[in-house]
Amino acid sequence: YLQLSGVEKLFGEHRVIKGIDLAIKQGEFVVFVGPSGCGKSTLLRLIAGLETIDGGSLQLDGRDITHQPSSKRDLAMVFQSYALYPHMSVFENMSFALKLANVDPAIIKDKVDRAARILNLTNYLQRTPKELSGGQRQRVAIGRAIVRAPKVFLFDEPLSNLDAALRGQTRIEIAKLHRDLGATTIYVTHDQVEAMTLADRVVVLRDGNIEQVGTPLELYDRPANQFVAQFIGTPQ
Ligand code: ATP
Ligand code: MG
Repeated sequence: YLQLSGVEKLFGEHRVIKGIDLAIKQGEFVVFVGPSGCGKSTLLRLIAGLETIDGGSLQLDGRDITHQPSSKRDLAMVFQSYALYPHMSVFENMSFALKLANVDPAIIKDKVDRAARILNLTNYLQRTPKELSGGQRQRVAIGRAIVRAPKVFLFDEPLSNLDAALRGQTRIEIAKLHRDLGATTIYVTHDQVEAMTLADRVVVLRDGNIEQVGTPLELYDRPANQFVAQFIGTPQ
């Protein structure tokens, strides 16, 4: 469904993604983990089309999207630093992209209401971002992605700015969202709990390569090496 074949990225002389092969099934929740600087965000940005690919190819539903501009790819990305429009209400923030695309206002309202229900934001639609908690703001950023109903969701450490309690709550919202919508999701984190509870499969990255891919249980029970064991938290 989403197929990465020999994907490479160079920054100057530095090869930061070194030929990644990975097939992600429709509806799958895949989590990328690995140490800081191993290439998680870069790989996500390559998939999103926010960086150019220097080698290999990307296919979505059998279509080659390797050189397709980001706006033409049917995916939505949620970043760690989510910039909401401060002067707009939650409703306006969430509906902005649809309005730009000239979607019918009644349909926009329907989509925003549905996303707000999933994310527990129904009572906050008329507030502005500064009247929200950090976790609520992050959920608005997720809501903006949901209303576009993309084929693929890309999350880059969406919870890392939140305190522990909000992180837990929002993690549960994301799990629920995936259950309800069933969209293919790629999620970057370096939080082991997030990886183990959210993932259908975990991809452990190290220095631009895949170290191991498996279900959380497989990686926990049978880590390929010490590096994976340490990362997944298998007792030594
Ligand atoms: P973190 O967990 O800290 O977010 P990461 O796994 O997301 O790390 P990346 O941001 O993908 O890591 O970076 C991978 C490597 O590429 C790093 O060595 C980084 O310094 C380098 N890099 C990333 N973006 C650029 C850029 N625009 N120009 C040059 N080098 C870059
Ligand atoms: Mg990163």
